[in-house]
Amino acid sequence: MTADSRRKVAIVGAGLAGTSAALGFADAGFDVTLYSDRDRASLRNEVPPTGVGVLFGKSREWDAEIIDDLYEVGNTTGISVRLHSGSGDERADVLEFNPDYGYVAQAVDLRLRADDRLGRFLDRGGRFSVESVDLDRLDAIAADADITLVATGKGGLSTLFPVDESRTHYREPQRRLLQVTLTGLDHGPQTFAYRSSEGGGHSLFNLDSENGEVFVGPFLHKDAGATWSFIVFAKPGGAWAPKIDDVHDAASARAAIVEIFDEYFPHDAPVIEKLQVIESDPVSWLKGAVTPTVRQAVATTRSGHPVAAIGDTAIAVDPVAGQGAQNTLIQVAELVKAAAANDGEFSAEWLSQEFEKHWERRGKAAVEVTRLYLGDPDYATHLELSFPAAAVDEKIASALFGLLSEPNPLLTLESRDDVLGFISAVAGEPADDVLGRFEPAGRFTSAPAPVSA
Ligand SMILES: Cc1cc2nc3c(=O)[nH]c(=O)nc-3n(C[C@H](O)[C@H](O)[C@H](O)COP(=O)(O)OP(=O)(O)OC[C@H]3O[C@@H](n4cnc5c(N)ncnc54)[C@H](O)[C@@H]3O)c2cc1C
Repeated sequence: MTADSRRKVAIVGAGLAGTSAALGFADAGFDVTLYSDRDRASLRNEVPPTGVGVLFGKSREWDAEIIDDLYEVGNTTGISVRLHSGSGDERADVLEFNPDYGYVAQAVDLRLRADDRLGRFLDRGGRFSVESVDLDRLDAIAADADITLVATGKGGLSTLFPVDESRTHYREPQRRLLQVTLTGLDHGPQTFAYRSSEGGGHSLFNLDSENGEVFVGPFLHKDAGATWSFIVFAKPGGAWAPKIDDVHDAASARAAIVEIFDEYFPHDAPVIEKLQVIESDPVSWLKGAVTPTVRQAVATTRSGHPVAAIGDTAIAVDPVAGQGAQNTLIQVAELVKAAAANDGEFSAEWLSQEFEKHWERRGKAAVEVTRLYLGDPDYATHLELSFPAAAVDEKIASALFGLLSEPNPLLTLESRDDVLGFISAVAGEPADDVLGRFEPAGRFTSAPAPVSA
């Protein structure tokens, strides 16, 4: 018998970040132990998915470095966007656009994604230890490993990593969040056909200038298959936030959503009302809020062993621009490659350098595109120009949503002239000509009213 000369990796937390890292490092020839506070069945069946986890385009290429694409349901090619503003008699249908993304977005239950990764990891002989890891235990784990990664999400052991004040823009959540998966309509072209000829091949994104946003998208639920995922992003001071506070189960989550559509998006309400809760999955819903936070991603344990944060533990963003899971997968795939190529020690310095590379490659842009979609005042000009331009020219709408797949171009758009230049370049004509053609929508088309029995 020969001693195992493989370098050791310890990973704490078996969400998307931890299971992706476990599989990726195992396949790269490392000896991996994955620690989880829940066993496999509990991870799959007793907790809600941490988010919707839509992978918009480009991040899927990094994901394919970890695991091949196992899913055919939940793929979309574009998005139908509508903006409403004002309240009461002043409420107006302002603008709409319905671009093809130019890429495929994929929305698969994160519990299924994680379980598939965990299953393969176990098949390859990976060790899975079910225990809740505290700081003392982390110290002992790190003492015995060449690389120790903390993937315990936004809570867990994240406080070991100090907040990076220079990269963290908010002290409070910017939205109250409600997520639920509903069933009862297929993903075919007839569903939401009045919004787009693609129907269920596109997602919906309804914006309300006073109250927040609602995302509705085709989704692959771990058991129920083709379903619809909803996220309500409620502005803290708006009328939707208290409705989220009242939610306590899947049925009340559905009721809150139906109420919001009846009152604020009546064009879509007849379709939304047809959707039902998934009876077999009572934890198919989630409410909460994210304080967007970037942490110093390398810390040392009590005895001085370096540990590195991955996934939400390192960078937590509001989900409005769908960046968290994507950012996680990119961080993990690149870290695996860098570690495999490194013959030397995995020192704190090496781990920090790799995080800085990730920050430049994607992290910073993920944070900034999230601020854009949150309507941060720093991006007021970007939004004031790009949304009307998108309503005039679908190429601009595609470019706007291209930022969900590849957010880095946003970092080059600092001034009003930069944004106008971007619009001109994408449209192939002066931005002023594009914007000069903008007219308010007037009235959006509605779903046909249900035929009463
Ligand atoms: C409403 C919503 C919608 C979203 N939509 C999208 C989207 O469309 N696209 C996108 O890219 N991202 C999206 N996200 C973000 C995405 O869901 C997260 O970025 C991603 O799931 C984070 O995965 P993670 O593994 O880092 O954390 P988690 O999923 O939180 O996993 C952490 C794991 O660690 C375990 N753990 C915690 N403490 C311990 C401990 N002490 N010991 C052992 N184990 C521990 C937990 O039980 C858990 O299993 C969304 C998020 C939300 C909230």
